[in-house]
Amino acid sequence: EFHKSKGQHILKNPLVVQSIVDKAGIKSTDVVLEIGPGTGNLTMKLLERAKKVIAVELDPRMVLELTRRVQGTPYQNQLQIIHGDVMKVQLPYFDICVANIPYQISSPLTFKLLAHRPCFRAAVIMYQHEFAMRLVAKPGDPAYSRLAVNTQLLARVNHLLKVGRNNFRPPPKVDSSVVRIEPRNPAPPVNLLEWDGLVRLCFGRKNKTLGAIFRQGNTLALLEQNYAVAQALHRAADGGEVDLVAAVVEVLSGSGFLERRSAKMTQDDFLQLLAVFNTAGIHFA
Ligand code: SAM
Repeated sequence: EFHKSKGQHILKNPLVVQSIVDKAGIKSTDVVLEIGPGTGNLTMKLLERAKKVIAVELDPRMVLELTRRVQGTPYQNQLQIIHGDVMKVQLPYFDICVANIPYQISSPLTFKLLAHRPCFRAAVIMYQHEFAMRLVAKPGDPAYSRLAVNTQLLARVNHLLKVGRNNFRPPPKVDSSVVRIEPRNPAPPVNLLEWDGLVRLCFGRKNKTLGAIFRQGNTLALLEQNYAVAQALHRAADGGEVDLVAAVVEVLSGSGFLERRSAKMTQDDFLQLLAVFNTAGIHFA
């Protein structure tokens, strides 16, 4: 009896399990964080490779089943189970994360992992196929979005393998894909709030030109508010009136971005755009 609400679709195909473990590149000295071990099909394989596995599982019945499964085996002392919601627990130190997660938490979990310190080596995660395609999308791909840009700022992401729904019991309604995520270490020297503020604006209408987006009333209202706050904080003496529309258009045309569209802009384009705006005193957070 599985809980659909907890996303309990157990991976049954041993070849897929083995392939995930192989592609994770686990060393015998590694601490592996597993999220959502369920009945432990993946966990047992991870225990063969790693020094230690720490598994976070929400469902007490699964915790019990997994505890029983390792009891009396040589792996018993290598496994630590944390009974809790992965979004609420404080994550321990780990080298590699392996997870077959409930798909509802794909986005928040990914960013929780990317914010984790110290930085881990890699995460190998099963996602809903469409979500995986959005994570790894490149400029010009139909699935390219704020999600791809934000993820790829913080990590290198690669699609590893597509896993059809029939490899699970019970089969979910969608296909899945395994993605490898390698955090960029050190993280790029960007204010993440400013970055996300800019990217959010740019992808509000990803096929419009930046010139059109930044001339919209709501965009300008937001920038004006940020501008006033920045002035109050840093430049209290300099209270002169500023023509923000003119300033924004000048930045965009001076840097060659006026006619560009987010759908085709690279990571470096967005970094450069943020830099030229910030230099002109225009902020996104
Ligand atoms: N990894 C197992 C496998 O491959 O067979 C099971 C995967 S199943 C898709 C998802 C698992 O995550 C279930 O065991 C479920 O109880 C657990 N889970 C669901 N939400 C969770 C959460 N917020 N924190 C930790 N575990 C969770």
